Amino acid sequence: MRISELVEQKPYSVSFEVFPPKTQDTVESVTTAARKIADLDPVFMSVTYGAGGGTSDYTVAVAKDLQDNKGIPMMAHLTCITSDRARIRDQLQKLQDAGIRNILALRGDIPEGFEPTELHYRHAIELVKEIKAFDDSFCVAGACYPEAHPEAATEAEDIARLKEKVDAGLDFLVTQMFFDNAVFYSYMYRLREAGIQVPVHPGIMPIVNAAQVKRTLKLSGSQLPQRFRRIIDTFGNDPAAMRQAGIAYATDQIIDLFANGFRTVHVYSMNNPTVAAAIMDNLRDIIK
Ligand code: FAD
Repeated sequence: MRISELVEQKPYSVSFEVFPPKTQDTVESVTTAARKIADLDPVFMSVTYGAGGGTSDYTVAVAKDLQDNKGIPMMAHLTCITSDRARIRDQLQKLQDAGIRNILALRGDIPEGFEPTELHYRHAIELVKEIKAFDDSFCVAGACYPEAHPEAATEAEDIARLKEKVDAGLDFLVTQMFFDNAVFYSYMYRLREAGIQVPVHPGIMPIVNAAQVKRTLKLSGSQLPQRFRRIIDTFGNDPAAMRQAGIAYATDQIIDLFANGFRTVHVYSMNNPTVAAAIMDNLRDIIK
């Protein structure tokens, strides 16, 4: 169930990202939401790991539940910036024991005031190497940024670092969310020009309420095109209308990506089965 091979077998496909519970109290609600999203039969699902570079004890459990009980191939996110080698190896062992074969290898965001020491990993490339050394048969993905990573000095520098990360053994890349496909297409030219040939899964975030906008853009560093700003200006105060418009905008992005040769997209579902279902419904005659 290597995701890199699985997506090749489908003409068009959608995968969904979910986040794990933060506390025991939310295990049931998160599990229920994630299972509803799994019922939409995405090509695979991914489960995030911690936030702000932190760790998560629930990622493996959620991934295992969906893989075992819903038959969905799973990818577990793993961040390294706040972990030492023992913790990473322990997580890898847990993933191996749970039968999770796909990992999104990430550095994680650097928590405020945090100083990496000798013990810690500094960049995702070091985690990629660690995973490969642990078990070369894991399918390993990495993150990339069509609008450049916020810490990168230049776009060229960011792509040069990405090339090194890919060459360390990545099977495919998943992008940060973007809202303007033209930005992504131009990024793809630059990746190919730099010799990065692995498949790239575009990341799409449906924006379904105005409050989500500020938070999302701050976290991702992505820009909103004028076309989408007008939608928010017009419908932002009407929750039902904004939701419909946001789903339509994300669907439009996905169809345009499919029409331009990208046959799989990764949708940031925000654990919202209603939004995920609406997107799948809009694509029902395309993803058969
Ligand atoms: P890296 O690839 O290490 O890159 C980070 C920065 O360092 C870039 O500016 C890069 O150009 C630079 N760089 C890379 N290598 C070197 C080097 N050798 N020398 C100097 N500079 C270098 N965060 C979470 O906490 N949990 C999640 O589950 C999660 N999931 C994500 C999923 C996706 C699809 C994406 C796009 C991001 C996700 N993030 C998650 C956020 C991610 O952890 C942050 O964006 C983080 O700041 C960078 O992670 P990275 O793996 O891209 O880092």
